[in-house]
Amino acid sequence: MLNFEFKNPTKILFGKGEIAKISTEVPKDAKVLMIYGGGSIKNNGVYDQVKEALKDHNLQEFGGVPANPEYEVLVDALNFIKENNITYLLAVGGGSVIDGVKFLSAAANYDGEPWEILKKPVRTFEGEGMPFGTILTLPATGSEMNSGYVISRRETNEKLSSGGPGLFPQFSVLDPEVIKSIPKNQIANGIADAYTHVLEQYTTAPSSADLQERIAESILISLQNASPKVMSDDFDYDAAGNFMWCCTMALNGLIQKGVITDWAVHAMGHELTAYYGIDHARTLAVIAPSHYRYNFETKKGKLAQYAERVWGITEGNVEEKAEQAIVKMEEFFHSLNIQTKLSDYTQDFNGTAERIEKAFTERNWLGLGENKNLTPKDAFKIVEMSY
Ligand code: NAP
Ligand code: FE
Repeated sequence: MLNFEFKNPTKILFGKGEIAKISTEVPKDAKVLMIYGGGSIKNNGVYDQVKEALKDHNLQEFGGVPANPEYEVLVDALNFIKENNITYLLAVGGGSVIDGVKFLSAAANYDGEPWEILKKPVRTFEGEGMPFGTILTLPATGSEMNSGYVISRRETNEKLSSGGPGLFPQFSVLDPEVIKSIPKNQIANGIADAYTHVLEQYTTAPSSADLQERIAESILISLQNASPKVMSDDFDYDAAGNFMWCCTMALNGLIQKGVITDWAVHAMGHELTAYYGIDHARTLAVIAPSHYRYNFETKKGKLAQYAERVWGITEGNVEEKAEQAIVKMEEFFHSLNIQTKLSDYTQDFNGTAERIEKAFTERNWLGLGENKNLTPKDAFKIVEMSY
């Protein structure tokens, strides 16, 4: 097992009715800005619960953060924060709103042009951000319990990630009841995103981190078990709760400790969202099968273990089990009505591989993957296989 440090300071408040407790989590003397998305919280009662809980706080609000949070909109929010001397941020939404708030938390305490935070070579924010909490309304990204975020800039077709140790939420509320109002395509996205987060940290070279691997496998199995229930029209509170906690556990740092992690699927997927606006999770479902087939030799041992322990496949040699694992993963995405070829989403795909190769070369992203040896030319080939 590799050396590691682990600190996750985010307090989780899990369960029905927990939103009311933010009245004591948010400091009484803070000037609070509640930030939300396109308005789903006004239709499902979450907005009213937050207003009620913070009725004795100094609370202002900023709505309209779009999915794949857009830099231009966030700059408007940043100006609002500065003009109104805001001291505390409250994200109420899915990964997009929470990621947007992390960027604002960093940008509020950064003196230069805000986009620089995402363009720096190392892309980490070393300082302490403005303090913030979150109320999660869409299980998927794990952003509610990690310190990373992803921001899009449409004018330049860029989607870039960053993060830093001073950007963890102080608290996050996870009330499974919020899942009732989520459209099924977004629930499917949440399952696929969390599932791929686990695979990015698991399908790397065999390691000796037995506990992390078995936690990762448990998250995959629990997501598979919860999926038919949370995709059905009948609301099942326990299935919703299991789905929600799996998504958080998939990317709160625990399963990546002591192991090497991949994240090349996300790097390529982000480009597909930047070029075509395809939902984040669906871009991962497009890239992952090609990525695993292209890197079959280095990944086959772990893929075979995934086949055995997660899918119960006992027949065949390592190669056969590994190939079956990729097929099982594709079938799982299809069971969520998520397609796994780029041509399922756009007919305009010619040239995508060249564009990604060029973008990665220009950004000096010369070694992706867990062994840092995937070149922009390799990315070209993987993306071309996904057409
Ligand atoms: P999202 O973009 O936050 O939300 C998608 C849609 O779901 C929005 O239209 C939103 O509507 C709606 N929605 C959210 N909660 C709802 C509810 N309870 N009922 C009804 N509708 C609801 O989706 P996401 O998948 O959570 O976030 C995706 C972003 O996170 C991407 O930019 C991705 O790159 C990033 N990401 C971040 C991390 C990380 O670790 N930080 C990891 C993976 C991905 P409203 O706008 O109206 O609320
Ligand atoms: Fe993701």
